[in-house]
Amino acid sequence: MVIKPKVRGFICTNAHPMGCAASVSEQIQYVKQQGGYDSGPKNVLVLGCSTGYGLASRIVSAFGYGASTLGVCFEKAPTERKTATAGWYNTAAFHQQAQEQGLYARTLNGDAFSTEMKQQVIDVIKQDLGQVDLVIYSLAAPRRTDPETGEVYKSTLKPVGQAYKTKTYDTDKDLVHEVELEPANDEEIFNTVKVMGGEDWELWMDALGEAGVLADDCKTTAYTYIGKELTWPIYGHATIGKAKEDLDRAAQAIRTKHKDKRAEAYVSSLKALVTQASSAIPVMPLYISLIYKVMKQEGTHEGCIEQIHGLFTSRLFAEQPELDEAGRLRMDGKETNDATQAKIKALWDQVTQENFHELSDYAGYHHEFLKLFGFDIDGVDYDADVDPQVGW
Ligand code: NAD
Repeated sequence: MVIKPKVRGFICTNAHPMGCAASVSEQIQYVKQQGGYDSGPKNVLVLGCSTGYGLASRIVSAFGYGASTLGVCFEKAPTERKTATAGWYNTAAFHQQAQEQGLYARTLNGDAFSTEMKQQVIDVIKQDLGQVDLVIYSLAAPRRTDPETGEVYKSTLKPVGQAYKTKTYDTDKDLVHEVELEPANDEEIFNTVKVMGGEDWELWMDALGEAGVLADDCKTTAYTYIGKELTWPIYGHATIGKAKEDLDRAAQAIRTKHKDKRAEAYVSSLKALVTQASSAIPVMPLYISLIYKVMKQEGTHEGCIEQIHGLFTSRLFAEQPELDEAGRLRMDGKETNDATQAKIKALWDQVTQENFHELSDYAGYHHEFLKLFGFDIDGVDYDADVDPQVGW
């Protein structure tokens, strides 16, 4: 099969196995070239391990610290006529390289929100690892089935309190235009917190704790985006921001419940960048295209792997990690500092349909977007006939 990108709106509906493998290799090479892996995790559970920040966390754990990794993801397998999802191919490439290096890796593909998946993970930990000393919570999902009631909750991306009118960029039509986003009602806010808040993170930690598979002094972290004034109306102070606030509550609850294990639970704030999750958020493609421009000029541009390498080596496994006023680990300073935000705001105010490509780094954004699905990567022959049936 010759595989070319099929982009529909903010998603690409296919993926390239060789391209995904190249992108995973690039991240592994980066991690191997860096240092700072003094004391770190040995047995790591990564929830949301196949793409974005979760995949980067798995790569840093395995290829930086030499840890055994157990991953959970929700990806589609290939068929004879359809490619797999990118996360499937990323996982296959991760497994191949881990095996070559003699690193333990196992991945369970299914719904991390379910009780069954929690039990399967516990069984695998008991059988293969004994206990885990790090749990990464990196799920990004549009819906969640409540394991107790069976009710399906859907998240929404809407402002809270009042409507919000802003510029946005339509990646499909190459159009900068105004959008007016209606505020969410209480039910939509509640549902978004149900999906993306801290409840499931707590359920995971409870299940692992009760099963006796959490090591003493274990650590866990969930990822958040806090941002600044430009993104607050649609992120930080919006429905998704309410869900992320709930992570702070959950972190505290986890620390209290697992005191006997001296468990450390953190919310880690990361920078905005192109992933399958962020490209679905209105306004984000415009904002990210502008921050790429400014941060590349400042020499501070980072992707998932650089952020996570920094998070592990300079925060999560540092002797005395620096915390913000809410007890979070912060890796977003290069984006959210006042000087950088002022430059982004100046561009934001000026940007129009006419000057968008000149003022922004949309070319960089688009390249990164295609790369998520294994496309637009140097050295990959996109005219070659490839077998989509790759697995692990
Ligand atoms: P992503 O879409 O790249 O990854 C999501 C992962 O979750 C994938 O591995 C997917 O398979 C898995 N997943 C989704 N639903 C699942 C389910 N039901 N069961 C099992 N696995 C499931 O997302 P990302 O951008 O890396 O986001 C990860 C976390 O980082 C999120 O909490 C997000 O809010 C946060 N974050 C993202 C950004 C950003 O700019 N992308 C910035 C800061 C924080």
